[in-house]
Amino acid sequence: MKCPYCNKPTILRPSSFVYGKNAPDYGWFWLCVRYPRCDAYVGCHPGTQRPLGTLANKALRTLRINAHNLFDQLWKKGKLDRKQCYLLLQDATNLPPRDAHISRLNNEQCKKVIKLMRSGSLENIIERWKNFKSKTARAI
Ligand SMILES: [Zn+2]
Repeated sequence: MKCPYCNKPTILRPSSFVYGKNAPDYGWFWLCVRYPRCDAYVGCHPGTQRPLGTLANKALRTLRINAHNLFDQLWKKGKLDRKQCYLLLQDATNLPPRDAHISRLNNEQCKKVIKLMRSGSLENIIERWKNFKSKTARAI
């Protein structure tokens, strides 16, 4: 895996390398070798060295957190199950299942998700998505 910002290699470090020794342990992180000069990193799935997504700089990390908080309302409030939420995300971002995860989105794709989630009530967003699904199903 290379850093998407400067194309340098990445290295594995414990979370204390980013958050300091007094912070809680968040497991492993993949960082750009130029960190902190190049402020790009990504955490790992708990208990593994498998990255959660692609490396992100400060701006993208903030966008992903915002997008995640808004997007998670869809399943947290019980309107859709997790699987349906990710189908909606695939449709909203036009990405294949493998890439349709907040931790893999770029700035533009995060902004798209944030815009969508702010475009109406949860019911309204789900309603529009279901209409879109039934139209595309009819087209096929
Ligand atoms: Zn870098």
